[in-house]
Amino acid sequence: MPSPLRKKNGSRWRSLEARVLAEETHCALCDQYVDKSLDRKTDPLSAAIDHDIPLHRGGPEYDRSNLRLMHRGCNRWKSTMTLAEARAKKAGIVKARSEIVASPGW
Ligand SMILES: [Zn+2]
Repeated sequence: MPSPLRKKNGSRWRSLEARVLAEETHCALCDQYVDKSLDRKTDPLSAAIDHDIPLHRGGPEYDRSNLRLMHRGCNRWKSTMTLAEARAKKAGIVKARSEIVASPGW
């Protein structure tokens, strides 16, 4: 029996992937430009297609609204978080750093 999490094959996935690559230019997590010419097998700054709500947390696999362009490395870091959770965690890290650099004094 094929796993329900098995993905990334079939023309349905390929056409959705092509749509995301054509429609989006920046990483959904870090907001930096994604160079789509980089080697997607090895380069952490290359393009990856992320499921905003991960599949094993009930996110739809073939719904365009659940798909985002992301760096391969950002996609790995996001792991099983939703995009909102990952952005909040990332913002928390940035906030913690800025508090050390410039304490508001209260
Ligand atoms: Zn990124």
